[in-house]
Amino acid sequence: MKSAYKFRAYPSKEQKSNLNHQMFLCKELYNFLLVKSKEYFKDTGKTFTQYDMNKWITKFKKEYPQYQDIHSQVLQNVSQRLHGAYKNFFRRVKRNHNGKHQHVGFPRFRKFTSSLTYPDSGFRLNKKNIYLSTIGNVNFVNHREIEGEINTLTIKRTKSQEWFVTISVEKGDKSFAPNGKPQIGLDLGLKEYATLSDNVKIANMRFGKEYEKRLIKSHQKVSRRIKGSRNRRKTVILLSKVYDKITNKREDFTHKLSHNLVNSYSFIAYENLQIQNMVKNHKLAKSINDVSWARFTQFLCYKAESAGCRVVDVPPQYTSQTCHECGKVQEISLENRIFNCEKCGLQIDRDLNASKNILRLGLEKDRTTEGHSGSHASGDIVRLPHMEADVAESGTKHGAST
Ligand SMILES: [Zn+2]
Repeated sequence: MKSAYKFRAYPSKEQKSNLNHQMFLCKELYNFLLVKSKEYFKDTGKTFTQYDMNKWITKFKKEYPQYQDIHSQVLQNVSQRLHGAYKNFFRRVKRNHNGKHQHVGFPRFRKFTSSLTYPDSGFRLNKKNIYLSTIGNVNFVNHREIEGEINTLTIKRTKSQEWFVTISVEKGDKSFAPNGKPQIGLDLGLKEYATLSDNVKIANMRFGKEYEKRLIKSHQKVSRRIKGSRNRRKTVILLSKVYDKITNKREDFTHKLSHNLVNSYSFIAYENLQIQNMVKNHKLAKSINDVSWARFTQFLCYKAESAGCRVVDVPPQYTSQTCHECGKVQEISLENRIFNCEKCGLQIDRDLNASKNILRLGLEKDRTTEGHSGSHASGDIVRLPHMEADVAESGTKHGAST
């Protein structure tokens, strides 16, 4: 599991100018590599591998000796960044081929670079400072013990000329239950269908948008017909067919997912969302999700027993606002994807943080109720609201034919 720690850093005046100079050189190198890779693409129709780029870096270093003063790993990270930019570019192109219309920008020349990354060596953490190769000991506010294996270090200059050091770490903190399968917390969301506490993300069902359009159209058609007319009855039947299709797809998805989960894990904690309330939300995509969550958690519960998995629900309060490391509760706006702990400096994907809290709460609950219920499934079965209720609300009751 990856997480990151962010610290305020205070480089000296000399170190600052050295860092700024190195950033400038890295930017120039980035742009140089971009020129070369564009030429290569023109000639061959192929893109550079990172290996190709690193060969160019070696040549570049020979020609411009000032690059000898930059740690070689920092320079290699420049090619990593460009390589990443290309990968993103091609991913977006591919998505557009699949019918999504997103703006696709080719990797662009950089006007400036405001960070340097040491991918895995060239730095050392001391108590009061961080040693950066070719820069020296940089003072920083060490307000927190770092746990886990350190991966990379990035030093960054903000627009307001403040400096920060971000250290990303890898933690092997999977918790295993007696039968050897891991335990997880599960955060249900809109951006991702679910985020698991072992940092697995489950993508949303894909039919949403396309069916949403069809639904809106069908609803409009129905409302244009005269009540009680034969034409209206016909369009109502068409409308309920669209709903049936959505229901089938959704059921299929939730069956498969719940089946996989109860067979992969020994313990699953999930949030008992206020699903009844949520379905009242008029945004269609969201209400589809809500209904499917209810179905999904219901499936989880009843499939758990035969798979030898325990499923526990927890109340949803504060799972997103609590730092899973130090327990600090703080506000986090909905659009903010990263939980940034004010107390301990932990930086973590917001859904991942929530899922970890959910696992902790679930294990706590399980400990206190163990022996009482004896059941593998959660006691509170989520009641299932029906999509069809929405159709009825829109005044198309007559069409509830199946
Ligand atoms: Zn914290």
